[in-house]
Amino acid sequence: MPNDKSFHMPSKDFKRYGYQIIDWIADYHERVEQMPVFSQVSPGEIYSKLPDHAPQQGDSFQEILKDIEKIIMPGITHWQSPNWYAFFPANTSGPSILGELLSAGLGVQGMLWATSPSCTELETRVVDWLVEMLDLPSTFKSDNTGGGVIQDSASSATLCALLAARERITGYSSNQTGCTGRLVAYASTQAHSSIEKAVKIAGIGSENLHSIGVDDQFAMLPDQLEQQVLKDKQHGLTPFFISANIGSTSSNALDPVAEIGEICRKHKMWLHVDAAMSGTAALCPEFRFIHRGLECADSYCFNPHKWMFTNFDCDVFYVKNRDALIRTFSLLPEYLRNKASESGEVFDYRDWHIQLGRRFRALKLWFVIRHYGIRGLQYHIREHVRLAQLFADWIRRSDDFTLEVEPPLNLVCFRHRGGDEINQYIMDTVNAGGKACFTHTRLNDHLVLRLSVGQTHTRENHVETVWQLIQQASRQYTSNGK
Ligand code: PLP
Repeated sequence: MPNDKSFHMPSKDFKRYGYQIIDWIADYHERVEQMPVFSQVSPGEIYSKLPDHAPQQGDSFQEILKDIEKIIMPGITHWQSPNWYAFFPANTSGPSILGELLSAGLGVQGMLWATSPSCTELETRVVDWLVEMLDLPSTFKSDNTGGGVIQDSASSATLCALLAARERITGYSSNQTGCTGRLVAYASTQAHSSIEKAVKIAGIGSENLHSIGVDDQFAMLPDQLEQQVLKDKQHGLTPFFISANIGSTSSNALDPVAEIGEICRKHKMWLHVDAAMSGTAALCPEFRFIHRGLECADSYCFNPHKWMFTNFDCDVFYVKNRDALIRTFSLLPEYLRNKASESGEVFDYRDWHIQLGRRFRALKLWFVIRHYGIRGLQYHIREHVRLAQLFADWIRRSDDFTLEVEPPLNLVCFRHRGGDEINQYIMDTVNAGGKACFTHTRLNDHLVLRLSVGQTHTRENHVETVWQLIQQASRQYTSNGK
């Protein structure tokens, strides 16, 4: 007798709850605007509402859904609120969510071409499309020497670039015998912390990451870079890697990639370009100035999971020479051997990054690109930039506030002229009110407020509201006699 006992969810329940969850998500996106943007819970509050032990008997799905509202929602910070201006966007969209769902439904693990050819070939096609869509160098295309691959994050992309650079400079020996000699990497003082993290993980040592100074727009000074490289060489060190910013996290600074690329060429260093948020802007021809000099780069990454309506996680990482990457990461245990891989006719993306297993992330990116089309994406990116520039104009016209730097795209760095205390007060007051949220940075030794515009549903009325809230908080501070 077959044992047909099962605890699995029957198909009819899956459909019923599935429709319910889609309805719930659609409603959430409609009501999220009314919710306090930053979660108001205290540390440990959510944990303590959850039972001490896992259930012995499964719960009904209805019960589980109830707990989403009761326990989980209070601890959600609403990145999808149109009133979100903090850090950077992590925007999503209907087509992206559906692509993600389909990916989970197919349950594909795409470590090898053979473990789902569509997973690999759709990814190759979509990242090739993006080369054209952003007008990136054609060497990044798969029919050329390079290629692109989807990574979980810009942090992972940077780590892969650094490891490939380490291998290239050591003749692919440091993977075998360990790293000898002192390799040195470079980034500006404004580089994202993921660069230092990668340097640590790759065994280079954070003392061997040399920080290069910046100009008054926070862009790297190429002369200072070259002087540092020459000095390091004189001391017997081996410069091998530099990461340049296209849109630094703090202030959206744009490093001079062409000049940096020339230095890299002279000194045989790997140039990685980190365009995590800002790369998406190049969908629009008028913003492609940000990529000037990119043809010098050995690798480049940007995050559709930040500003391209594709839910986290989805970073696209390109290399000019895929052999360097594959030689760095490729290993072939017996249990992964298969005819397709051995034919040399396919990409096995497991050889392009750190982990073996991989999700079918290309689906959501494909859905997004096909749904919006290039025109639809351009429209929304232009609109975000227009709104940020409008806000910057209000700051310019205000007597009380000033821009800390000219905003090139969708991130405005500004401050009240009255000093750190009032700026801190304004940020804390607006954020505590729950109607909008933004965060800060430190530039020129000032506390500087950052308005990052990029949430899917942010419109002009939302930006007007946050400006009113900022002005109100500023008046409150003054009338409180602070
Ligand atoms: N690089 C830059 C310029 C960023 O702004 C960020 C995001 O904070 C990162 C890298 C890290 O992104 P991810 O979370 O994809 O690793």
